[in-house]
Amino acid sequence: MLRRIITPLALLPLVAACATVPASPERARHAPDTGLVSAADPRAVEAGMSILRKGGSATDAAIATMLALTVVEPQSSGIGGGGFYVRSDAAGRVETLDGREKAPAGATGDWFLGPDGKPLPFQQMQESGLSVGVPGNLRLAAKAHAEHGKLPWAALFEPAISLAADGFAMTPRLRQALVNEKSTAARDPDGRALFYGADGEPLAVGAIARNPQLAATYRRLANDGAETFYSGPAAAAMAAEIAADTPRPRPMTAGDVAAYEAKHRPPVCGAYRTWKICGMGPPSSGATTVYAILKQLERFDLKALGPNNPVFWHVFAESQRLAYADRELFSADADFIKVPVAGMTDPDYLAARGALIAQDRTMPAVTAGPVPGALALADGVEAEERGTSHFVTLDKWGEAVSYTSTIESGFGSGIVFGGFYLNNELTDFSAVPAIGGVPVANRVEGGKRPRSSMAPTLVFDADGNLLVAVGAAGGATIPVQTAKNLIAMLDFDMLPGEALALPVLFSPGDTVFLEKGTFHESMVGPLTALGHRVVVRAPGFKANAAKRVGGRWVGAADPRSEGTWKAE
Ligand code: GLU
Repeated sequence: MLRRIITPLALLPLVAACATVPASPERARHAPDTGLVSAADPRAVEAGMSILRKGGSATDAAIATMLALTVVEPQSSGIGGGGFYVRSDAAGRVETLDGREKAPAGATGDWFLGPDGKPLPFQQMQESGLSVGVPGNLRLAAKAHAEHGKLPWAALFEPAISLAADGFAMTPRLRQALVNEKSTAARDPDGRALFYGADGEPLAVGAIARNPQLAATYRRLANDGAETFYSGPAAAAMAAEIAADTPRPRPMTAGDVAAYEAKHRPPVCGAYRTWKICGMGPPSSGATTVYAILKQLERFDLKALGPNNPVFWHVFAESQRLAYADRELFSADADFIKVPVAGMTDPDYLAARGALIAQDRTMPAVTAGPVPGALALADGVEAEERGTSHFVTLDKWGEAVSYTSTIESGFGSGIVFGGFYLNNELTDFSAVPAIGGVPVANRVEGGKRPRSSMAPTLVFDADGNLLVAVGAAGGATIPVQTAKNLIAMLDFDMLPGEALALPVLFSPGDTVFLEKGTFHESMVGPLTALGHRVVVRAPGFKANAAKRVGGRWVGAADPRSEGTWKAE
């Protein structure tokens, strides 16, 4: 039924085309006068905008936004973590940079196993040096700046230094995170001192939090460069602090930190109807999963079905089940595992997978498909994920950046070093190295990057002009939020704000999760009648986007978040 051999013709639009979108002379006309920033916090939006006003590029603005988010949204992302940067220039050429955290060289398959050979409880993995990967965001930022920056490196730190040194008002969301995740956030005395009062309570909403340690870290990085994060006394001290909290014989070393490299990866692009969708390939499962969900639905007239029809949500759920089965089995760090990206995004393969979806019933069981070029592997457990931030920046020259930055769970590992939280990204690995004797693609290995779900995405119209920049936070739900937002903006022609507000239906396996407090609750009956097992649950979603609407750029931040956007 499925072709096992992919013709060069079939591969062409997927792998190569996004890097060679033809230039269009009117593209610059579509750019904003000064630029646009959409992010999860207004202070971070302002940081990015101030850089654009000074003549910075979208890359400069994205870096300043990432640095500011480290200060004002410390629970979600920051320089103690990693990220993915997807950029297009005015000619529509796409490049991606991988700043994903790396396991120390001494990490082994049994890293997360207890003495009984079973995975440790999640909290025990998370709240220890075991979960910390070498942070990648600063090497990513330095590389992106060297290639596409217009302002001096030090200028990008100014807004974030002001926020850290002068202080920033506590938001309801940060305070709630400090309550809910106190065991992580207050684990390190430095974290307690930053965000909790003498009574052990988190600072009140509106209270001014200052982070002089982070301001000092930023001044050093601004003046002496990102290299001082990766080598020298601060890097050695960071590695030592992580190692001291890691109950393994070969924990993180200064050598692991120094060896970290942000890498250019081939963008994963594919055609969906008249649009070209581009995003982040391995070690992220983001682009392959988003693309599979969309492409498997291409034969359905989604526009005619519309967002109020349970049948649309049913086929959307079915497509997710298929896409996540492939993701679970095949996605991992391509430096270690042969990830069959071309096969997973092959149009004929995805058309055959999509043919399994019926409008009037649910597929009984879903397994990974015979992906062309795939080796036989299995995958393991995945924990619920919380902290992450997506942001979008555009400049007046037509450059666009879609960047997702993360420290994994809320407050990462809870280790605070130099005023920032260190990630717990290594819990994105499979906790078990093998299932039934079959090695898991996403198992822990020394120097490997854990599989991600992050899906920073750019979309081009039929003329090759940038149309949409979008991405999300929310762990394994990220590809689904992104696909939903794309269908809403592309098929339903919604404004980005409307698209993000549309409820999320998440269906990674044999259960469909509907978003509580939305019209989705009325779909429990119809979806159950189609054969789904349905659960209604509270939302944990956060997306940011921008879309060109009639020659003008309109941004959007998730109404579930404290985010905002600005264009000038
Ligand atoms: N660490 C997750 C990933 O890279 C994201 C975590 C989250 O969004 O909550 O897939």
